[in-house]
Amino acid sequence: MNTFYALYDTYDWSDVLDSIYAKTTADVHTALAKEHRNLEDFKALISPSAKPFIEDMAQKSAMLTKKRFGNTVQIYAPMYLSNFCSNHCTYCGFSIHNKIKRRVLTTQEIRREMQYIRAKGYEHILLVTGEANNIAGVEYLEEAIKIAREMFVNVSIEVQPLSQEEYARLIDAGLYAVMVYQETYHKEEYPKYHLRGKKSDFRYRLETPDRMGQAGIHKIGLGALFGLEDWRTDSFFVALHFKYLQKRYWKTKYSISFPRLRPHEGDVEPKVAMSDADLVQLVCAYRLLDEDLELSISTRESDVFRNHIVQMGATTISAESRTNPGGYTVDPESLEQFSINDTRSTEEVVETMMSIGKEVVWKDWEHFQNF
Ligand code: SF4
Repeated sequence: MNTFYALYDTYDWSDVLDSIYAKTTADVHTALAKEHRNLEDFKALISPSAKPFIEDMAQKSAMLTKKRFGNTVQIYAPMYLSNFCSNHCTYCGFSIHNKIKRRVLTTQEIRREMQYIRAKGYEHILLVTGEANNIAGVEYLEEAIKIAREMFVNVSIEVQPLSQEEYARLIDAGLYAVMVYQETYHKEEYPKYHLRGKKSDFRYRLETPDRMGQAGIHKIGLGALFGLEDWRTDSFFVALHFKYLQKRYWKTKYSISFPRLRPHEGDVEPKVAMSDADLVQLVCAYRLLDEDLELSISTRESDVFRNHIVQMGATTISAESRTNPGGYTVDPESLEQFSINDTRSTEEVVETMMSIGKEVVWKDWEHFQNF
């Protein structure tokens, strides 16, 4: 099957990086003046030359977001099913070499956690696992999705990459969306962060969204982990990946997430810093590239930042997240994948969103429109 890898392979990381940093003020003016922007415009908008224009970008982004999404903000809850993992990723607390207590939720525990989340009002749940096929494989995921569909309208997953057939099977079980982040698109540096396990296969991971598209997943979530390599270059490749997928799997919806490296067990320091202003610039640049794209900001970010970014272009937020299996009711003290930043309760987040004029949508936006 022809995949994104063929297109990706025609690009060189250093050339892309140089071309972004070579963008001028005139390029930014051109990009801002356009009604429809291409990837070269996107490069200009994420370049250092666009920094003095962040205010302009934020205004345009807010306007486009309002036009497409009204005053809404989607809210969802992540739920960790398992922290078993066969990979060694240098930036993650669940890494196989970390001597932590491992847990995979039983059917009964899954129900208990879900009932707690549902009682908070959520209709959209994101099921998360480490990558351990022998412990939380497709059968386990299928069962968890079926239970989730008894209570939730939208079920998304963020788990190990699967085959096309396995995605199709999970769609039959009620799966709606899949998040899979490449972490970094820098092929030469990628092995330094992914030392062991299936995730060390750069190409297999890169081709995962193609397998989802072929299987007919309704929504695909992309992203890079900021802190590993140059965030501008990684963001360009995320945009390239998105544009490729959008053209090829045109019935599918897309979302982009913006994880910045957070403290975790066995800490690594971010190699590359990304400031709050950088993240605002990036969120707005994606909005100016595509009006329909969902832009998601998790509890890795602070309450203050999240309250602001939903007014500039972000459409989706999580709340009251636990990043450990059983973290809501079953085993609140088990080790988190990473520590969260915004620790507000669901009620507090909803109240704040309403106070800044946002209508909270508990289902996925598309379902909100259709039901
Ligand atoms: S990032 Fe994912 S694959 Fe890597 S160690 Fe953590 S849970 Fe496992």
